[in-house]
Amino acid sequence: MNPSKPAVSSPPVPFLPFALPDIGDDEIAEVVDTLRSGWVTTGPKAKRFEADFAAFLGDPQLHCVAVNSATAGLHLALEAIGIAPGDEVITTTHTFTATAEVVRYLGADVKLVDIDPATLNIDPALVEAAITPRTKAIIPVHYAGRAADMPRILDIARRHGLKVVEDAAHALPTTCGGQVIGTLGSDATVFSFYANKTITTGEGGMLVTRNEALAARARVMRLHGISRDAFDRFTAKVPSWYYEIVAPGFKYNLTDIAAALGIHQLRKARAFASRRAAIAHQYDKAFVGLPLQLPAHAPLGDEHSWHLYVVRLTDDARLTRDALIEALYERGLGCSVHYVPLHQHPYWRERYGLRPEQFPRSQHAYERLVSLPLFSRMTDADVQRVTDAVQSLLG
Ligand SMILES: *Cc1c(COP(=O)(O)O)cnc(C)c1O
Repeated sequence: MNPSKPAVSSPPVPFLPFALPDIGDDEIAEVVDTLRSGWVTTGPKAKRFEADFAAFLGDPQLHCVAVNSATAGLHLALEAIGIAPGDEVITTTHTFTATAEVVRYLGADVKLVDIDPATLNIDPALVEAAITPRTKAIIPVHYAGRAADMPRILDIARRHGLKVVEDAAHALPTTCGGQVIGTLGSDATVFSFYANKTITTGEGGMLVTRNEALAARARVMRLHGISRDAFDRFTAKVPSWYYEIVAPGFKYNLTDIAAALGIHQLRKARAFASRRAAIAHQYDKAFVGLPLQLPAHAPLGDEHSWHLYVVRLTDDARLTRDALIEALYERGLGCSVHYVPLHQHPYWRERYGLRPEQFPRSQHAYERLVSLPLFSRMTDADVQRVTDAVQSLLG
């Protein structure tokens, strides 16, 4: 949480973590059923999870490709759109490294840009300014679960002939202009089911696209580059043992054990989302008048997934960000920071010679922001503990 400062004392019990998965008896029974079935790797449950996911997004025509992480899904999406050495991909500095590292897997270069200070999402004007003849794609991130400015990003992409892959790790469910993220018509959208995301399979992700060829390529590359279609050209009768390798693929398939969790998490996703929104609303009400900049809401009529509730200390606050996190920890409350911006990490900084002055808004936000505990299993008493502590520390 705060690796630079070892805890001086152990936190009060019970400790309220910053995030916790919400897994119930349905998930447990489905996992047990999977274990008993004899089919534990990718199989019928992964297939069902993919179909359920398309239905959840409200578009049964969507191709959904289940993978073992969002990182894998982003990698597959970029591979399928042909990102290669010499290419540039534009993304936000204010994200987790997975968003950008996948570009490097393919030998292409990352162009980091600064954010809109209101939403902490990638600034479309800066995206457009960063385009060069080498630019091939844009990866917007729906930070905290609030949609990026997709109409402008898709318009820029159209005008410049660029691909768009949405990092929707925070965005289940989020809407933009009344449309569900995943159905906006970008080239691909990738969701995460990591342990602290809005639904979880432990580890897992889903690549979503309307492009049938892209989905077909991702399905082949998800599992070692194995194809059975090639054989079909020569005979209708494919022996069950036969397959062909058409590319050096990856090992990115989602297991049925994980999919068993996902099937039930997805059914609860709406209920989880409304609980998260209710907690965000309670925080908003409790923090009025404190030296805090509260998180941007979705525009009227749109939905914020409230994956994260991120506040920023204003300059009149009597605590620094680090001191606030430390004081909350001493009260048994876990927080996090999203994110240490990419331009500040040694790898990205040194690889591209980056300086904080190039990203003044992300840097300013980073130095002041805290993600407060937010997960669907939080009780009203848990929420009260957080609001009482924040009020007493900052009020
Ligand atoms: C969690 C996260 C990822 C990676 O998700 P995994 O499923 O852990 O690979 C990518 N981007 C963002 C913004 C994330 O928060």
